[in-house]
Amino acid sequence: MIVMKFGGTSVGNPEMLRRVGDIVIRYLHEKPVVVLSAMSGVTNRLIEGTELAEAGNRDGYLETYESIRMKHLETIRELGLDPSLESEIGDFLNSVLNLWKAIEALGEVTPRALDLISSMGERMVVRIFASYLNKLGIMAKSFDADEFLITTDTHGNACPIYKESKELFHKKVMPWLEKGGLAVITGFLGRSKNGRVTTLGRGGSDLTATFLGNLLDAHEVWIWTDVDGVMTADPRVVPEARPLEELSFVEVAELSYYGAKVMHPRSLLPLMEKDIPVRILNTFNPDFPGTIITRGTKRQRGVVKSITYIKDLTLLNVTGRGMLGIPGIAARVFKTVSEKGANILMISQSSSEQNICFVVKQREAQNLVDSLKKEFELEIYRRDIEGVEKLDDVAIISVVGAGMRGTPGIAGRVFTITGKNGINVIAIAQGSSEYNISFVVDGREVEKAVKSLHRELIE
Ligand code: ADP
Ligand code: ASP
Ligand code: MG
Repeated sequence: MIVMKFGGTSVGNPEMLRRVGDIVIRYLHEKPVVVLSAMSGVTNRLIEGTELAEAGNRDGYLETYESIRMKHLETIRELGLDPSLESEIGDFLNSVLNLWKAIEALGEVTPRALDLISSMGERMVVRIFASYLNKLGIMAKSFDADEFLITTDTHGNACPIYKESKELFHKKVMPWLEKGGLAVITGFLGRSKNGRVTTLGRGGSDLTATFLGNLLDAHEVWIWTDVDGVMTADPRVVPEARPLEELSFVEVAELSYYGAKVMHPRSLLPLMEKDIPVRILNTFNPDFPGTIITRGTKRQRGVVKSITYIKDLTLLNVTGRGMLGIPGIAARVFKTVSEKGANILMISQSSSEQNICFVVKQREAQNLVDSLKKEFELEIYRRDIEGVEKLDDVAIISVVGAGMRGTPGIAGRVFTITGKNGINVIAIAQGSSEYNISFVVDGREVEKAVKSLHRELIE
């Protein structure tokens, strides 16, 4: 059995859905379980519409509603599907519109409501695709993952829980598979133990697929996307980037953690545990072998595999001479950050003990500065801490490769390249895994940095 996940662009229009149908038919003998993302742009529009409703912009969200509606209805018509599907999809659209009206009236939105709304894209597309497969004579049925996928209640970034999900999957979906049916399952969404719809974070359909791979002890998980595999850099920044034939779980985990959108950062975990390989394949080029990701045995010494980046970040710096020797400052800093639910992407090492410097998403930064100032009010008053400084518009660049471990001189090469190209390195990470070297630069220098590192370390 194979779990196959198709991303947003792979199911973005009727023509693409036909291609996906061809791929599924081609691999029917592998007994695929199919996971789909919402049609491209739909999740973004659902989130935008919610923001417009919150801001009281009715014309704005009505326009967004109309564009989502047309996209799905046109797809149903173009694929020549049963007209009864239009009213089924219409029900989801209506519930979105009603939620937006309620949000407009309240003037605010909760994370719970946002998850419910942003899950609708997946619910609509699985119905359309299952119906299309039926039209092709395949015994297919759509499933909403909140019927069985139980998660933590961390809305917007929930984690699947194995035991309960497995039991429910066996109850709700297994009978259909045992009858020889094909399941078309929504990616991205789940349900918390108290019954609320959750989502697994942006790009979360990858995690749905790998989680199912684990539950089903799949032979492999195939992630169908719009590029030829995991590439040596983001192809939108580096046109010379090329696909990598094979990578290890840890390498891809590092790459996705540091910004490579090709897989969700937490999606490798369910597979590592059971040693289930993943293939990254191109829906637009289905004959290309893509990238295979396994535990990986042979380590190519000194080899840099890929360069990634994350933009729109802020560097926060808590400074002050009085911090020297006062125990517990770092603990209080990180406790404050975690209480705000913010994620620290990188911590930079400083030996002098006069500052603590870390990187967060820019949209979380101001709130953190305010909370930190409050937490250290007394120390700031006493001048033990000078203040909390914030540097916006920075980016993290990461150079990744398992063979870097224990190979001296890579950091030297990396920073020689940045120096030679006039790129100012603002901070360097405390590399723990040794599978990557990460550092912070001004956001405006990302392209130059990624391109020059790619040219000199990979090309
Ligand atoms: P999907 O909708 O199929 O999940 P995503 O847009 O989430 O697709 O991820 C695929 C995209 O990730 C590619 O189109 C590419 O632009 C981007 N990307 C960034 N870094 C990499 C990389 N190192 N390798 C491959 N793709 C990358
Ligand atoms: N549709 C969701 C998103 O856009 C999940 C996914 O595409 O994997 O984030
Ligand atoms: Mg994705």
